[in-house]
Amino acid sequence: APAGAPLLAIGGIAHSFGGFSVLRDVSIGVGAGRIVGLLGPNGSGKTTLFNIISGFLTPGAGSLSFDGREITRLDVQARSRLGITRTFQTPKVFESLSTRDNVALGFYKQTGAGVVESLIGSARSRREMADIRERSSALMTRFNLAALADAPAALLTAGQRRNLEIARALAGAPKLLMLDEPSTGLTRDEADALGQALKSLGNDAVTVFVVSHDMEFMRIVDVAHVLYFGEIIASGDMRTVQADPKVRQIYLGT
Ligand code: ADP
Repeated sequence: APAGAPLLAIGGIAHSFGGFSVLRDVSIGVGAGRIVGLLGPNGSGKTTLFNIISGFLTPGAGSLSFDGREITRLDVQARSRLGITRTFQTPKVFESLSTRDNVALGFYKQTGAGVVESLIGSARSRREMADIRERSSALMTRFNLAALADAPAALLTAGQRRNLEIARALAGAPKLLMLDEPSTGLTRDEADALGQALKSLGNDAVTVFVVSHDMEFMRIVDVAHVLYFGEIIASGDMRTVQADPKVRQIYLGT
């Protein structure tokens, strides 16, 4: 999709758990190349919507289209093949592998080669291996992991793991990167650095959809949507959203 045109269109999504409605008529357009944020207090339905977009949950009503295709009924793997990648609240890393190898695995996932085959490298030319090494280095530099390239991931701090997980996800060249509470467990400085790294990816590289209740971190987004008890109550840039009377009422009680 051209920059700004909707890459992901969330149309009239509704969902209930056991008769309890948690999402009601949620519609959001996620523009290509944008960083789009979903804000909201605990229990407002952020994770449920995230799970619906990534394919872990089928919505009770509504539709999703991605890159011009209806994806509402596609499973997680099919969505992943189309270029939708997500991270989890608890980063998943391979403890005994080096930081570099953890990032490099993201490239193999993209080509569909098995992990064992990838690690042995039997199907790969020297040139491909060198190329992956170089691109892994660039991602490690961007996400402040270069000095840890040869360290086993087991030694990384929570913040470094978060960066590693995102660098590996980007190695797979997703069209849409979905981040679930990426600043959780990070110091303010780490969260700021991660935000800057995401900002620096540039418009043509990847579209980011980020769920968070960290208002400070959310300053990186181009557009924010605020979810409250299953409904979008405000949308716009962060300045607009933070000035919205309904949002102020929820967050500040003013
Ligand atoms: P958020 O991510 O904004 O904190 P969630 O999407 O996790 O919100 O939850 C929204 C509402 O749905 C909450 O009231 C939560 O208790 C409820 N909920 C979430 N998952 C389930 C589930 N699997 N079964 C029943 N209720 C759920």
